[in-house]
Amino acid sequence: RARFAGKSIIVTGAASGIGRATAMAFAAEGGAVVCADLDEAVHATAAAIVADGGTARAITLDAGREADVVHMVELAGAAHGGIDVMYANAGISGGLTGLLEGTPEQWADILRVNLIGPFLAIKHAAPRIIERGGGAILCTASVAGLRSGAGCPPYSASKAGVINLVQTAAQQLAGSNVRVNAICPGLIETGMTARAYEHAREVGKEDRIGRLNPLRRGGEPEEIARVALFLASDEASYVNGQAIVVDGGLSSS
Ligand code: NAD
Repeated sequence: RARFAGKSIIVTGAASGIGRATAMAFAAEGGAVVCADLDEAVHATAAAIVADGGTARAITLDAGREADVVHMVELAGAAHGGIDVMYANAGISGGLTGLLEGTPEQWADILRVNLIGPFLAIKHAAPRIIERGGGAILCTASVAGLRSGAGCPPYSASKAGVINLVQTAAQQLAGSNVRVNAICPGLIETGMTARAYEHAREVGKEDRIGRLNPLRRGGEPEEIARVALFLASDEASYVNGQAIVVDGGLSSS
């Protein structure tokens, strides 16, 4: 099945983890993908897609910098004839910090990438999606954005902001046939969580990650990718302005 044949798709944070898995999944279903990331390893994602017979280009950029986002959107337009799907997924975590130990610089860094980044992606991709008659925008938020208690207060606040941004964008773009949704992953094994997983393995507590979850395991990037593809597809034609939790049931237990 080629749900995304003829579609032009941008995925940020595509060098690693959720972004890489999602870029590969879109391409496997026929999408032409611009893979964007700060990390040069994004070229390997695009090369893997092309080696599989898919269509992809890579661009290194800072997703929180407006000139870079403008360039990314122009590249997708020039290479693939426009944009149908924008997935603003790039993000950073700040490690475990107590609220009172935080600094304005730490807050500014995290908010710039995690919240201003998705805003810029929406601002510059939406007009191109509208030109094509409509499409979908996705952002990666987090279960950490739905409630307090996660280990990094500016990270949680940035993800709560993304959920609100998605609601506003969904309201404002619905009349132009652009749906906007957020995905809220629970704990997924990626570059971002590698140290937590390594630590758990070193101390022989790998099963602790699973023990905390009703499904008795952490999630895989591909399990987020499948939800992203659903939300970006016409199958989700009446899903708009939502924050879809994909966490194995952790937040409802
Ligand atoms: P990851 O570290 O494997 O991937 C994140 C990617 O974003 C990296 O390749 C990194 O280079 C890129 N990136 C960081 N800053 C950037 C910038 N300024 N410009 C462009 N690219 C930049 O981690 P992941 O888990 O795949 O993270 C993807 C998204 O999922 C993030 O928004 C993260 O907050 C979110 N998330 C992850 C989890 C989890 O458990 N892994 C849970 C909830 C939400």
